[in-house]
Amino acid sequence: MHYGIDVGGTKTEIAIYDRDWQCLDRWREPTPAQDGEAFLTMLTRLVQQADDRCGGQGTLGLGFPGVLDEQGHLVAANLPGLRAWTLETTLAARLDRAFVIENDSRCFVVSETGPGGAAEGQRNVFGAILGTGAGGGAIVEGRLLKGGGRFAGEWGHLPLPAAAAKRYDLPLLSCGCGLEACLEAYIAGPGLVRLHRHFGGASASAEQWHQAWEAGEKSAQRARDCHLDLVGGALASVVKLLSPQVIVVGGGLSTMDRFVEALSGAIAEHLFAGVEIPEVVRSRLGDASGVRGAAMLGAAASAGNPVVGGHEKGRP
Ligand SMILES: [Zn+2]
Repeated sequence: MHYGIDVGGTKTEIAIYDRDWQCLDRWREPTPAQDGEAFLTMLTRLVQQADDRCGGQGTLGLGFPGVLDEQGHLVAANLPGLRAWTLETTLAARLDRAFVIENDSRCFVVSETGPGGAAEGQRNVFGAILGTGAGGGAIVEGRLLKGGGRFAGEWGHLPLPAAAAKRYDLPLLSCGCGLEACLEAYIAGPGLVRLHRHFGGASASAEQWHQAWEAGEKSAQRARDCHLDLVGGALASVVKLLSPQVIVVGGGLSTMDRFVEALSGAIAEHLFAGVEIPEVVRSRLGDASGVRGAAMLGAAASAGNPVVGGHEKGRP
């Protein structure tokens, strides 16, 4: 059996998969985001419950929001209770088996490249999540791209292009990461709302923007055009760097009408002649992708399979 755990700011989910990646069971608990000890106890309990249900030990992969810094501390704005530890060492002391830790966006692309995923079997794939934030991860030549600092794929923190700032007269917004004018501040769900307001709209959520857009409101249309242009430009930068065959888009914005369908054209606007435009597809596994990708990474590492990697430091 293979277990995946997806740690979120409010809920933590565990899922049990068989060897064919059929989900046998899944359940959730609230995440004690402020209390590290309670968090460790909760994680240990989830794994023990899974063992009890399976009658044995499964392999384990954990997906977290945020990134591990050079010292191994988790940098995640919505999990302040975990900041004090070197996360892998602390977990290794509590969990009685080898495990893999990975960023949840990278778990997403691993899952979508696996059986039943939107990019099943493809060897060069970029996964882009657009929801409350803009995360991402890449499979390059069949392997999950980690990079030396383990934050490869963070396309949301590429800077807003000067040409776009000038074209739309955009303000330079500060980003949660501490930098100025990261794309995430403009292209994630809250960013789309900001764009709508910038063009004279009054929405308070992406859903409200969507209603205004469907109703034909001019400021909502301008926000849509600008948003598509920015996302298309950002993904074109990814294409220039990594040349993926497929881009899989997930997160709340991926469910918006005709958004994913419009992205190929928006990307093409920012590429030069002769560059192959990758296929752009919507996530097939939706919210389950993170937990399944974590489980797949745990299983691959346990089997010594290099295809999707696995971080050796995760082994106690
Ligand atoms: Zn940023």
